[in-house]
Amino acid sequence: MPEVKGKRKLQFSPFQDDVSEVVKRLDSDLENGLSAEKVAKRYETDGWNELPVIPGKPAWLRFLLQFHQPLLYILLLAGAVKAFLGSWTNAGVIWGVMVLNAIIGYVQEAKAEDAIASLSKAVTTEATVLRDGQTLQLPSRDLVVGDVVLLSSGDKVPADVRLFKTRSLQVDESALTGESLPVEKFVRPLPVETPLAERINMAYAGSFVTFGQGRGVVVATAEATEVGQISQSMGNSVNLSTPLTRKFSKFSRLLLYAILTLATLTFVIGLGQGESWVYMFEAVVALAVSAIPEGLPAVVTITLAIGVNRMAQRNAIVRKLPAVEALGSATVVCSDKTGTLTENQMTVQAVYAGEQHYRVSGSGYGPKGEIVLLKEGKDGDLEHPFEGELPKALQTCLTAGVLCNDAQLKQEEEQWSVVGDPTEGALLAAAVKAEFTQSGLVARNPRLDAIPFESQYQYMATLHDATSRVIYIKGSVEAILSRCSQMVDTQGEIIPLNHSSIVQAVEAMTAQALRVLAFAYKRVGSHVHAIEHEDVETGLVFLGLQGMIDPPRPEAIAAVHACRNAGIRIKMVTGDHISTARTIARRMNIQQTKEVLAFEGRALVPMPDDELARTVEAGDVFARVAPAQKLRLVEALQSQGEIVAMTGDGVNDAPALKQADIGIAMGKGGTEVAREAADMLLTDDNFASIEAAVEEGRTVYQNLRKAIAFLLPVNGGESMTILISVLLARELPILSLQVLWLNMINSLTMTVPLAFEPKSKNAMRQPPRNPKEPLITGLLLKRILLVSLFNWVLIFGMFEWAKITFDDVVVARTMAIQALVAARIVYLLSISQLGANLLAWLRDRSVAVTSAPFLLLGIGGAIALQVLFSQWSLMNTLFETAPLTWGQWLICLLPMLPMLPFAIFVNRVDPQHQVLSSTR
Ligand code: ADP
Ligand code: MG
Repeated sequence: MPEVKGKRKLQFSPFQDDVSEVVKRLDSDLENGLSAEKVAKRYETDGWNELPVIPGKPAWLRFLLQFHQPLLYILLLAGAVKAFLGSWTNAGVIWGVMVLNAIIGYVQEAKAEDAIASLSKAVTTEATVLRDGQTLQLPSRDLVVGDVVLLSSGDKVPADVRLFKTRSLQVDESALTGESLPVEKFVRPLPVETPLAERINMAYAGSFVTFGQGRGVVVATAEATEVGQISQSMGNSVNLSTPLTRKFSKFSRLLLYAILTLATLTFVIGLGQGESWVYMFEAVVALAVSAIPEGLPAVVTITLAIGVNRMAQRNAIVRKLPAVEALGSATVVCSDKTGTLTENQMTVQAVYAGEQHYRVSGSGYGPKGEIVLLKEGKDGDLEHPFEGELPKALQTCLTAGVLCNDAQLKQEEEQWSVVGDPTEGALLAAAVKAEFTQSGLVARNPRLDAIPFESQYQYMATLHDATSRVIYIKGSVEAILSRCSQMVDTQGEIIPLNHSSIVQAVEAMTAQALRVLAFAYKRVGSHVHAIEHEDVETGLVFLGLQGMIDPPRPEAIAAVHACRNAGIRIKMVTGDHISTARTIARRMNIQQTKEVLAFEGRALVPMPDDELARTVEAGDVFARVAPAQKLRLVEALQSQGEIVAMTGDGVNDAPALKQADIGIAMGKGGTEVAREAADMLLTDDNFASIEAAVEEGRTVYQNLRKAIAFLLPVNGGESMTILISVLLARELPILSLQVLWLNMINSLTMTVPLAFEPKSKNAMRQPPRNPKEPLITGLLLKRILLVSLFNWVLIFGMFEWAKITFDDVVVARTMAIQALVAARIVYLLSISQLGANLLAWLRDRSVAVTSAPFLLLGIGGAIALQVLFSQWSLMNTLFETAPLTWGQWLICLLPMLPMLPFAIFVNRVDPQHQVLSSTR
């Protein structure tokens, strides 16, 4: 084993000894955990519980990799040949521009990586720890050896721990052992030769709790953990590759072959026509350089990075870059109900106990409000205030709600809030309204054991020691009723179960969108100290129901509306009751047709795949869905060609999150397992943030296309110019160096701002993009060809005319370039928000033109550079240009005039990428 510096190296094998022995050696305390002083001391010697981040590729290598593009090899070679031919200035400029380009690319890439890496770091792993007798939530990095850690399903094991208490604890150790099935854990000591994968009394850092609960004492942290010794890194490397960037690489490779073929052909033809070697070489290099959109890779990276940033500002944290693109083409969003579509602000409004209905007033978690009896009368419900004691059945129902509960209410300046599950907080608040306090009840009925709530089982149970031992259990109506054969009447006497009246009560509550919990109890013998699922299989006595309201989030309602306009369908996938879910769905207007189409999870189970696919396509609400079923839902939708975004928060949601095109986990609630599996996190757990992310995703794509629509026509125009001039055996209107200037310097200053384009109003008014659609659609190609043609006419025409008029090739070339850039500015405006703003401003002077400051900056920069390009003597030498007179400048500006109507015409041909006419 490697020597681990600074970390305590254990002198014994913690799995081999009894727990008591281990604890003694670690100087810890299983009941109370470590004391604050011990923790402070251990920090000093051991340091943080985190693995050092292995530095990625060194900066110089990453810089060099910027040149590792086939297209750039051509340039390197071209420079070399130029140098060989003795044109050192030429070679120097080619290489200089390349280096400049690499620097820009390098800086952009580093920035993008940093941004994404820091986002993912902002999401810390938490651990539940016992210290000084208190249970605390701490970041995992705060753990020290000897800490007592509480594990429950969904947690990531924060350090190597020796377990001393387990309840059906299962841990997924695949990261460590490669074994994909979860391993069940126990506490008994093991022989010393037990291999890692079989040490069932240990839980190792980096694995996940998939089931049950457990407690353990930390025996190793950071590099001293098993995983730390293997990898020594947290795998923090950021991958900037996405389907889109891969499409781009493929595209550039194709382009490369095309260029090489074309260049060879041109070379041969030119020589055949009797041109000189030197002329032909210059022509071929110019052709190659002109056809390559050198600025494109940088623009793609920047645009994606900006998209990630914008999403983060709107509470959606992207963990995997490809999600940015997938979001733009999402067709279906499968969303949780509780907490995502709704507020997760629960208030009990109705209680049913002893066959009587009660109404609970008040809102929030505060103690204000009262419980009144409803008597059915001729004029509807009549209210009866109580005199004297509350009915026994009501008392027990409220008591069960308080005791079978892991939440706490907290008051901060008049504001009451819940620590823990809001569903449980609501039960506490309801009981307080009848003056049943948590502290009082817990003191009189101490808890001996508990089975915590898991979506899969839909109930929670606790064992209490009162006058006799009693189990309280609460959960979904289905889960509880199926275990009951008896119930209590108003006075608390046990009578046979009246199934139909309970079902009626449930229907009345769910029709009002109430989330219903059922309560029951069971007396057990005094020998019982612990409970298992089998202990509550049968023989429960039904106590009553509590119905709580969880109102839809207003912003989620707006987001649902926006999604529908954008052609995105929403499906509610919930563990809640079907009618509660249906009522909420109706209130939020989720349904595709007039009526909400709702299905229960169990109805889907027997369906064959094709029927399931049809059902899932048509349905709006899927209720009582077990987490394991979500995977099938996603697959069914995907089989119909849908691009699916799916939310999830539990352990068992992980497979569905991985399968979905965009797996979304909750940043506030939710388990570590779900977060790890997800592509994106919502920091506010809000459905509205999904909609925001989709909008940003669409904007990213739109801006990328704009960049292509802007860049490629210049390449097209240049290549046509050179090709045709060679074929006509005329002098070259632009030289390779000048092409380089246009494609790298000028293009970059004008294209990068497109990445910052604000989202267009249309982003959410169009149907989702077809993911199979090629990057360059037919319409986009048409646009590129048309504008290329315009650019060719412009360069060729201006050059030939100026050559005759001014009798100077250098001036003619300079003018051709300046004219091209001038027209380019108009074209840029025609596809950008700034152009739209200008147009709107012409009509209405109160419109702010400067809402796209980056574009303004880009255009300003480009103009300044162009002036230097022809007026500065150094540039004249480097790029073979000539200073222009005022008159010549003016002539260069003239092509802006025909470009304006032409651009508007092109926008009609390809309305996808225009902004000008869309704002009419
Ligand atoms: P969702 O989050 O989609 O509403 P859950 O799986 O959390 O679905 O809940 C499913 C059902 O389980 C709820 O309708 C409720 O009846 C029951 N339930 C929810 N939370 C608890 C809890 N803390 N204890 C007991 N039962 C619960
Ligand atoms: Mg829930």
